[in-house]
Amino acid sequence: MVVVTRKDVTEEVIQELIRILNEEYNLKVQVNDGENQNVFGLIGDVTVLDQDILTSRFPFIENIIKVSEPYKKANRRFHPEDTIVKVGNFEIGAKNKLAIIAGPCSVESEDQIKEVAKGVSGLGATMLRGGAYKPRTSPYAFQGMQFEGLKLLKKAKEATGLPIISEIMSQDHIDMFVEYVDVLQVGARNMQNFELLKALGKINKPILLKRGLANTMEELLMSAEYIMSGGNQQVILCERGIRTFEPYTRNTLDISAIPVLKSKTHLPVVVDPSHSAGMSWLVQPLAKAAVAAGADGIMVEVHNNPSKALCDGNQSITIPQFGQLIEQLKPIAAVEGREI
Ligand code: PEP
Ligand code: MN
Repeated sequence: MVVVTRKDVTEEVIQELIRILNEEYNLKVQVNDGENQNVFGLIGDVTVLDQDILTSRFPFIENIIKVSEPYKKANRRFHPEDTIVKVGNFEIGAKNKLAIIAGPCSVESEDQIKEVAKGVSGLGATMLRGGAYKPRTSPYAFQGMQFEGLKLLKKAKEATGLPIISEIMSQDHIDMFVEYVDVLQVGARNMQNFELLKALGKINKPILLKRGLANTMEELLMSAEYIMSGGNQQVILCERGIRTFEPYTRNTLDISAIPVLKSKTHLPVVVDPSHSAGMSWLVQPLAKAAVAAGADGIMVEVHNNPSKALCDGNQSITIPQFGQLIEQLKPIAAVEGREI
């Protein structure tokens, strides 16, 4: 439930309202100071709340809205303004510059990650991606360089200044990731690893949460809710394609997820065209579509030598192709009122 009040009321009255909601009704209150109104998100058993009594006691209440969706903290009704997630000096969300996250699927060597990091940094990337712990379908496939990979990412950050993002697969690695990376990625396969999500709710680092292979938008928002209800509000959602009956592409990019999620939630939404497409030639058109549909950023796989990549070479673009992609995206971003 959401309580909307006029803005021109004293702090004392607001505090009294919050106290009554906490103590008499046993509800948790999330406060958002809007420009023209205050919005209070109520969490708990709201059936105990008599709306008439509350509005007669606090006549500055303008509106009480029932929120039927099961996600509360992630709900735009609870928090009408766009959330901005800060990563170093860079801000993701609202009408800020688009987040351009680029890098290889996996860190493979010091030379490889440095070459890609330097290449994409000079061409407009705002963050470097690179998998160190890889979720592979086959246990016999390359599993990533693991801790060594995180160390190399940190070196690449030192060389370029780009903040880094890498996928976490186990709660046991949280302390290590908090020390080494700027954004922790939860991959599609772990979107509903609820114990991992709960643990990530306790840390103070941004989380990029990817949509599961066959998960609905509401399930994605409920996973974000797991992180946010633990206390960590810095969640970036990522649409990366879903499984459909169409086998031509690796996944089907759900373009509608961008405007729909942005209407349902205040969290930033970025798009990964690489895992959606599975083929490098499709990365550019899908990225363009994502920006035109209002995405807050894109995450693309870039490799210095895609044909030799240890993972996802087919969908990786080269460094020069990344440069061309950025040029293609600029006019589309401008139409959306965004810069790159
Ligand atoms: C990745 O980003 O490298 C990855 C494994 O993506 P996803 O979880 O979307 O499959
Ligand atoms: Mn990959």
